[in-house]
This record gives sequence, C-alpha cells and structure tokens, in this order.
Amino acid sequence: MAPTEVVVTLDGRTFRADPCGFYDELIEISLGSLEMTEGGQYPERVHRYARMYQAGSPFPPISVAGVTPDCPRYRITNGHHRYLAARQAGAGSVRAWTCFYVPFTGAGGRTYYRLARMSDTDLGRGLARLLGREWCPRCGRFLDYRPDLGVCLACHLWCQAEARMAEGGSNR
Ligand SMILES: [Zn+2]
Repeated sequence: MAPTEVVVTLDGRTFRADPCGFYDELIEISLGSLEMTEGGQYPERVHRYARMYQAGSPFPPISVAGVTPDCPRYRITNGHHRYLAARQAGAGSVRAWTCFYVPFTGAGGRTYYRLARMSDTDLGRGLARLLGREWCPRCGRFLDYRPDLGVCLACHLWCQAEARMAEGGSNR
C-alpha cells in the first residue's frame, strides 16, 4: 500500500510530505502577506470563527501557495473563512502550510515555476532521507518508484516504448 501523508520535523522546522513526494512547511504568516483567491465566504461563519479565535480555540493551519519571484505574496488555497476570522479577531498572523516551487525554463526561454518534489531541493532530499523514501533518479517521482527496476514505473514503460521504436517501429 502506498504511504499516506506524514508530518516530520527537521532542524526545528515542521513539514508534511505526501505519497507523491510533494512537501509543505508549517509556518507563521502575517495577515498582510496573504492574498485571497476566492470570495463568497459566509459572514456568520467568519464571525463565529472570530469569536472562537478570541476565546483561544486552536484552529487547523490554512493552506497557501508558496511565494515565487513572480508572486511575492502567499495565495490562500484553503482556509478563507479562518483567514477572515483571524483578521476580524485582530490577530497579526496565522499558521499555514506552504508548498515550495522550483523554476524551470519553458518555451521562449521564459522562467516558470512548478511545484517542488522532495527530489528537487536539498531541503526536500534531506526530508526524504529522514523518511526513508526513495525516488526515481530519472524523473524524480516518488509514488511509483520501483527499487527492483531502478526507476519509476512510468519511466520504465517509457524506456520500453523507446526501445521498441528503436527496433524499427514495428507494431508487433
Ligand atoms: Zn521516473
């Protein structure tokens, strides 16, 4: 069975890693650095959450998209009600899970950003080692990495298809 999401600490920082190898860090973000990505929150719920905040109720962290040079603010992907409630309650910051991005060069030499897997960064590789997780050395995928094949299943199938094409493209 595939592993489930796990929470792990490294150098005093808290991370969670999912079965696909993507990872988030739990951080404290000032409300001014957050940006909403949707509207239509229920005012009554925001109000109720705000009262709970003020009473000291612990809230689960919200989720945000990590910052990149393109977008220096944390965009909220989950937890708009909790964010608005924190504002209403007069909190200065909230706890949030943030993901990481890595740059890549796209069409026309432009720099784009994609979600980082643990195999993409030194920090992530440190987490993977801590968790005893292995990844495909060819593409960096975690989920279907096969130690017996030395690559992930997707790369293995792709290599087989390439080998068939090299044989002359015959469809046997
Ligand atoms: Zn692979």
